[in-house]
Amino acid sequence: MNQKQIFNSLAKNAFDFLKQAIEEFDRSPKYSVIHFCAAVEMILKARLMVEHWSLIVSKPEQANIDKFISGSFISVTMEESRLRLRDIAKEEIPDDAFNSFRELANHRNKMIHFFHSGIDKNEQAKAKIVAEHCRAWFYLHQLLEKWDAYFKGFRGEVSKANRAMKSHSKYLSAKFKVLKPELDAARNAGNVPQKCNACNFKAAIPDHLDQQITNLTCIVCDHIETQVEIECPHCSQQVVVASEGFATCWNCGGKIEPEHVVYALTDGAAHIAIADGENGWENANCANCDGYHTVVNRSNFYFCGNCFDISDHVEYCGWCNEPNTGDMEHSYGSGCNHCDGRMGWEKDD
Ligand SMILES: [Zn+2]
Ligand SMILES: [Zn+2]
Ligand SMILES: [Zn+2]
Ligand SMILES: [Zn+2]
Repeated sequence: MNQKQIFNSLAKNAFDFLKQAIEEFDRSPKYSVIHFCAAVEMILKARLMVEHWSLIVSKPEQANIDKFISGSFISVTMEESRLRLRDIAKEEIPDDAFNSFRELANHRNKMIHFFHSGIDKNEQAKAKIVAEHCRAWFYLHQLLEKWDAYFKGFRGEVSKANRAMKSHSKYLSAKFKVLKPELDAARNAGNVPQKCNACNFKAAIPDHLDQQITNLTCIVCDHIETQVEIECPHCSQQVVVASEGFATCWNCGGKIEPEHVVYALTDGAAHIAIADGENGWENANCANCDGYHTVVNRSNFYFCGNCFDISDHVEYCGWCNEPNTGDMEHSYGSGCNHCDGRMGWEKDD
């Protein structure tokens, strides 16, 4: 088996597990939790596989191809996968996405270690599982779209899974009905609930931070999302970019990258500031994602167009004098995430 064949068999298996998890849910929620989580892990491993097969072995320095193919090896944990993807493939799995995957894994561990009786008939427990699946699929789907160059042979599987997830969320309709008074109250208060990108119910209550940036909280599946509305850099149509700066334009199919979001958000704000003769409107560096000049001043708050993190203020690095969303107290000596401070400068001397 060559690298490509191993990748294909891993990815194929992942979609098979996902399908199984959705199909068997009603019969056996326990196995559904276990299989769904395994599918997520396999997709992450498949992406690692693209770099090198030994990266999915817990200790790559001890990796042995024969043992690998026969399946006798200890594979990476979810945490290790994330770190290796970041450090080796330069693929960042955002916090929100990873937290939702870890939640699945914790739930899976509980299911494996403790016997839960009666879960098959416990509607509340089942709704919780489906909500968890909806959120995890939202993030996994996003990653698969971002990694389309590697998973292009599986586009059919991705859209099949997406359709299956849509019908999977029907298990949340009882909860949706119960929450109707709350949704009506939000609507009456002017916060018209929108369709949730994770569970598809019209239950995401918007909180408009400004004209372009909105926080949405779904009260059915608890999915939280920040949306930014910008002009598509390719076709000039209005597009909504959800959670992290990657999206595909609904109109022209063009890729929207974090730098487009940063640029689009800077534009408006900077114009007003310049007209008002205000200082301090240069973009700041992000302490959360290490983004360089990705943090835009939105007059009431600071917003990172790369990781969508919101900060209420920025501080200036004592050494390089760049604005930064992190704590800059000791920055004169030790620097910020984009300079090494005085100590680094002396070392170079
Ligand atoms: Zn939802
Ligand atoms: Zn477009
Ligand atoms: Zn950031
Ligand atoms: Zn600095």
